[in-house]
Amino acid sequence: MKGFAMLSIGNVGWIEKERPACGPMDAIVRPLALAPCTSDIHTVWEGAIGERHNMILGHEGVGEVVEVGSLVKDFKPGDKVIIPAITPDWNSREAQRGYSMHSGGMLAGWKFSNFKDGVFGEFFHVNDADGNLALLPEGVSPAEATMLSDMVPTGFHGVELADVQFGDDVVVIGIGPVGLMAVAGAALRGAANLFAVGSRPNCVEAAKKYGATDIINYRDGSIVEQVMEKTGGRGVDRVIIAGGDVNTMSQAISMLKPGGCIGNVNYLGSGDSIGVPRIEWGCGMSHKTIRCGLMPGGRVRMEKLAELVRLGRLDLSLLLTHRFSGFEKIEEALMLMREKPRDLIKPVVVI
Ligand code: NDP
Ligand code: ZN
Repeated sequence: MKGFAMLSIGNVGWIEKERPACGPMDAIVRPLALAPCTSDIHTVWEGAIGERHNMILGHEGVGEVVEVGSLVKDFKPGDKVIIPAITPDWNSREAQRGYSMHSGGMLAGWKFSNFKDGVFGEFFHVNDADGNLALLPEGVSPAEATMLSDMVPTGFHGVELADVQFGDDVVVIGIGPVGLMAVAGAALRGAANLFAVGSRPNCVEAAKKYGATDIINYRDGSIVEQVMEKTGGRGVDRVIIAGGDVNTMSQAISMLKPGGCIGNVNYLGSGDSIGVPRIEWGCGMSHKTIRCGLMPGGRVRMEKLAELVRLGRLDLSLLLTHRFSGFEKIEEALMLMREKPRDLIKPVVVI
């Protein structure tokens, strides 16, 4: 079979591989729609997970089951399924402790395009099919549902980590596709003032549609000062970090009320440590909480999120700014993701 792969750090290309084998609890799936991710870019061009040779990329997709193992109960060939980016081993110790995303080691629930071939192949392997696949609901298009693999659950996990409650004032730093889903999730959870930090016009427009009450442009000066000014100097209850740079954590701490909470889902790509501003941290006594996480993955979470889309409570079409047709277009879509033209939110390839 053919796949689009990371050949080595900084190099990508088409390769031929054996079709993956199906274990007793697994499924083999062929893609119907695929999306490249910012994480694919970090993996190939920033060496974020170290060197990989001839590893098929991709972890966001919707597909059709072509084979299931003898112990799989709930899926059969022909089923259309959403594939979560994170596919934990649900019988692991970590999953039993409530941290499925770290099953087998830190961040090891992320298997596609990390420890094994990803979804940019003519076929791909899904471990623990009953625990990790979700049926694509009637009426939800495969293109839109690709956003359920990673963008929706990651943005929403940021909202969970920040523990957004009714009437909270919330800042979402970064409004790429992940941050936009954090805005949508915070609005669904009942945020009051919802400040979205970003600059690209498309993303700003989408953030407003997803429920942002104010837009803060980080290119216009300190985001801490802008938030403080808009909140009468009080700051906010929650900050969700879905983008930014080495200063973002410190800024998030500074704009938080005492007792507030930060949820970080951003990949921190440089530096050895993250700064904590001493005074704004209450000299260590601020009751400000930082929580951070990889999204948990799993079938139940995916089914619940898909139901929000099916019922029209979450419109994913706003994220899909660039649509391609045909499997071979995955290369173009990935390169577009790398260039990040200013009108891009997310590309999708329909097969
Ligand atoms: P994008 O690159 O599309 O979006 C990043 C956002 O951050 C943009 O809105 C950008 O603004 C904004 N930004 C950039 N610099 C700053 C700054 N200095 N201050 C404030 N805002 C800034 O990324 P994605 O939405 O695709 O992904 C977001 C992050 O989430 C990535 O790091 C990705 O690796 C990570 N991720 C984490 C996962 C998890 O499970 N935890 C899973 C998937 C992704 P502008 O409008 O100017 O572009
Ligand atoms: Zn992703």
